[in-house]
Amino acid sequence: MKVLHPVGRGRIDEKLATEQVVLELRMASVRVISKLVTGPDGYLDFVASEWGTEDLVVLEDDKVPTAWDLVGLMACTAPWCLFPYKPRGGVENLAEWLENRTFALGLARFSLEAQLAVPTSAWLTHLRHKEPGREGQVMLDRAIEVPMRERVGPAHVHPRFITHNHRV
Ligand SMILES: [Zn+2]
Repeated sequence: MKVLHPVGRGRIDEKLATEQVVLELRMASVRVISKLVTGPDGYLDFVASEWGTEDLVVLEDDKVPTAWDLVGLMACTAPWCLFPYKPRGGVENLAEWLENRTFALGLARFSLEAQLAVPTSAWLTHLRHKEPGREGQVMLDRAIEVPMRERVGPAHVHPRFITHNHRV
């Protein structure tokens, strides 16, 4: 298992707590690949380059799980799973989140089997730009979720909001 830690440009104060989590993972001998991702396809290219090689965990640069969250995620036997977090201006409680299923990659795990069932070619038909008609960042979360749900089933959701340090 490998942890992918895409790091975008932006406010360092939103990323410090996640950097601490990454440091603790490395001290526990977990392999973490941190990569600066830039441009509309930077995040996509990073995840795609590791896809289909082994079990993967994605930890975005402003999400802050506890050690126990990570233990639970890494030990999970579901084909793929994730922790919810609160989107900006979005849901306030878990019941509402579960109802809306606002999937996002933030902290997610994909077994190798699930990845092989959804090769990167299956993402491409679902890729959309965040700002239609403009060269914004692609919406990688939806692009993976839709074919994953069709071919593997819905994500197993670990029912606790992790901290999301993105400020408006
Ligand atoms: Zn799980």
